[in-house]
Amino acid sequence: MHVRQVIIIGSGPAGYTAAIYAARANLNPLVVASSVEAGGELMNTTEVENFPGFPEGIMGPDLMAKMQEQAEKFGAEVLYDDVVGLEIDGSVKKVTLGSGASHEADAVIFATGSAPRKIGIEGESRLSGRGVSYCATCDGFFFRERVIAVVGGGDSAMEEATFLTKFASKVYVIHRRDELRASKIMQDRAFKNDKIEFIWNAEVADILGDDAVTGVVLKDTVDGSTRELALDGVFVAIGYDPRTHLVHQKLELTSDGTVWVDGRSSRTSVPGVFAAGDVIDPTYRQAVTAAGSGTVAALDLEHYLAALGEAGAPAPDVAEIDGLPGAEADAAAVA
Ligand code: NAP
Repeated sequence: MHVRQVIIIGSGPAGYTAAIYAARANLNPLVVASSVEAGGELMNTTEVENFPGFPEGIMGPDLMAKMQEQAEKFGAEVLYDDVVGLEIDGSVKKVTLGSGASHEADAVIFATGSAPRKIGIEGESRLSGRGVSYCATCDGFFFRERVIAVVGGGDSAMEEATFLTKFASKVYVIHRRDELRASKIMQDRAFKNDKIEFIWNAEVADILGDDAVTGVVLKDTVDGSTRELALDGVFVAIGYDPRTHLVHQKLELTSDGTVWVDGRSSRTSVPGVFAAGDVIDPTYRQAVTAAGSGTVAALDLEHYLAALGEAGAPAPDVAEIDGLPGAEADAAAVA
């Protein structure tokens, strides 16, 4: 089998930025973009107002289309398929796809992003797609003149609640504390919106309905009392969990559940496997930080392949590669 230089798993800002850099370095990257989630979380976003270079804002899907176009322009190959198997122990990495095809490469960049977090209650999974949603831009349209709730107190919850007021007659925001985590600008926008009503200090203890959502059971987080609230839909926006299922037991993870990387680099616990974007980031999780992280991964990859070429097999130890972000941290740790 032809052994490529690099396979990039993931097609969000981290994956496509890594692909742009790797393609410009003539590394002919193969991007496995996913069959249904190609483009990542920005595909579920409306207007992106904080990506530098777009003062008028840009729609999330348009931004991702531009990133893909830029990667392909320099020679990246994009496959709309899902990785179902990953063998990364040896010096040649093997990636098996849902189609049954497999590809091999000297290195892998793992940029699978994160998935919406679930509340974890019975009614949530039973009524998912029947009034329970994780994507306002995908499903908001179905709730014209309906009463709905958004669960969460972060930027995602504010963004979804504000967006959903275009359709719904009323949007409750249910938050477990009496203070939001969201940025000031997003909070202010939601507070100013007449259709949004905040329910503070409340957790969703159950979601009610047989075939469709009819309401929720709210539990007061201060006094423990419960009450029912009639609703037609529930949008869950309580954060994201890194998508690491492919690398459990294969790559070291952190206590946050993200893939462990060495200092500020993208080097994982396995030589030749680099990770970038939300899958390594429990804190910032912005499109632009993910893009920067993809750049780091592509540059680390270039150094790795260069060292591999000079030394021949076997692959160099990660600590032996000089000049990489995190190298100072290694030195400090040794000292
Ligand atoms: P987040 O900032 O982690 O906020 C999650 C919210 O959900 C918090 O308010 C949290 O409550 C609540 N929560 C978490 N687990 C819960 C549970 N089991 N039950 C009930 N509530 C729960 O997540 P996010 O809003 O998705 O934002 C993630 C990142 O993306 C952030 O860095 C954010 O700035 C960024 N983002 C930016 C934009 C933008 O700039 N336009 C838009 C969306 C997201 P507590 O506050 O009590 O912890």
